[in-house]
Amino acid sequence: MKKIAVYPGSFDPITNGHIDIITRGLRMFDELIILVAYNPNKSSLFTVEERMDLIREVVIKDQKILRVDCSAGLLVDYVQSKGANVILRGLRAVSDFEYEFQMALINRRLNRDIETVFLMTGYQWFYTSSNLIKEAAGLGGSVKGLVPDIVFERLQDKFNHIKN
Ligand code: ADP
Repeated sequence: MKKIAVYPGSFDPITNGHIDIITRGLRMFDELIILVAYNPNKSSLFTVEERMDLIREVVIKDQKILRVDCSAGLLVDYVQSKGANVILRGLRAVSDFEYEFQMALINRRLNRDIETVFLMTGYQWFYTSSNLIKEAAGLGGSVKGLVPDIVFERLQDKFNHIKN
């Protein structure tokens, strides 16, 4: 049986921390779907399309076993509809743990055939979160090295556009 995993997140925008999880996840599964899971009522800096395009630009090249998709629905239903049985998540600080633990338990209750698998962050990305990146970049701080160059440029464009 093919091992297909779904890596869900907001990816607003994708960071080097996400890429670390994706790169390592690719070694564990036959197929990996990166899912931009969005809530239409929540505001975001990048649109769903922009987020998917950025993901495609930075990770999809030459990777036949990677796919990028989006969904606003129930995660376990999406996972099942793709014939996948694993949800891949990354863990940073202890503060991630409680939320991730709750999500894993509720998802397991909703569908017992799906397991959540956690990978510990690479130590360089311990404090890298999309929210902190946006906050720092919005205040003019340099986030170079924490996100791919193309994301760095798009962040600058976004904030210049907002300021002007
Ligand atoms: P963020 O918390 O950065 O807004 P997402 O909602 O897009 O990120 O997160 C998707 C998944 O990626 C979550 O499991 C999250 O814990 C994980 N993740 C995000 N940043 C990192 C990182 N720097 N290292 C490891 N995992 C991460």
